[in-house]
Amino acid sequence: MSSTLSLDQIQALADTALPASSLDAPLLGKSLAELTEWVQQQGQPAYRGKQLYQWLYQQGGRSLSEISVFPKQWRAALAEVPVGRSSLHYRSQAPDGTVKFLLKLADGRIIETVGIPTEKRLTVCVSSQVGCPMACDFCATGKGGFTRNLARHEIIDQVLTVQEDFGERVSNVVFMGMGEPLLNSEEVLGAVRSLNLDVGIGQRLMTISTVGIPGRIRRLAQHHLQVTLAISLHASNQTLRETLIPSATHYPIQTLLEECREYVQVTGRRVSFEYILLAGLNDMPEHAAELAEHLHGFQSHVNLIPYNPISEVDYQRPDPRRIQAFVDALKARHVAVSVRRSRGLETDAACGQLRASRSVGG
Ligand code: SAH
Repeated sequence: MSSTLSLDQIQALADTALPASSLDAPLLGKSLAELTEWVQQQGQPAYRGKQLYQWLYQQGGRSLSEISVFPKQWRAALAEVPVGRSSLHYRSQAPDGTVKFLLKLADGRIIETVGIPTEKRLTVCVSSQVGCPMACDFCATGKGGFTRNLARHEIIDQVLTVQEDFGERVSNVVFMGMGEPLLNSEEVLGAVRSLNLDVGIGQRLMTISTVGIPGRIRRLAQHHLQVTLAISLHASNQTLRETLIPSATHYPIQTLLEECREYVQVTGRRVSFEYILLAGLNDMPEHAAELAEHLHGFQSHVNLIPYNPISEVDYQRPDPRRIQAFVDALKARHVAVSVRRSRGLETDAACGQLRASRSVGG
């Protein structure tokens, strides 16, 4: 298992990681009011703020020199202003249509984003950090360590990039890429606000997934958002959870669930629980019974994720009969449950396989 950082160490690490927005404050992520103020500071009339806003969020512009409605001289002066878009480093498409993007940030760091099309939706799985400090044993991202938090424009950019590539509007955003979103709450919430108000994605169509950081689910609830909260639970008891998720040592399941209950009370939204199925480890009928016990009377939904293989560890995905038995055991106890279909497995774009490389072990 990976070496364990203390919770204080994890929090300190994440809170001091410099968000890129403090370097040169790119335009992406700014509201209409902020952009209007920005153009006025440049001696331009307020309506140019609206033009800039539409160009940025509706047209997905990349360089201010492209804005043909702006006066030529001003445009030339703006050519070097950072917009906040990444560049495409690598793209690969799985047979099921899922596309994995490696995006290069302004400082040269690489992150992963996944575009997942279905008949009625286009979902983007966004990263919230470069790497991840949580070091969950089954997750490829954690194996590579943590570099820094993403700034809000770097999160919004991922959505615009997928929108542009697919030539259609993104309908859903899930914070299930690289990183732990609740260790980067300010930038994640800034991105959620902008994706909602500026890009036009409904809050209810966004999901923040977390392994759980003490006190931060409660804090998130206080924002009264309508986003879905997903908890990476993965185990039906504390002892088992600690073997899979090092940080769980600092956060008893009962306390985690109490904070989730508060989230439901404050927001009126049900919580999703994600549960990776690992053969012979957490996939037995007694685990389903234990899990159902925890969730009794809870407005929730369980999302089972059959394990997606990564090279460093030797876990196995249970066979389909066993997965079905787990589903049946939960249903018999009136737990709402679904099994997540793995998308993009062929390109290492599925849950837990994101490591900012072109292939496993790369
Ligand atoms: N840090 C956040 C968000 C990123 S992970 C969190 O933990 O929720 C997105 C989901 O993929 C999480 O539920 C995570 O536990 C799961 N996951 C990680 N590795 C996996 C693997 N190898 N197979 C299947 N799911 C995995």
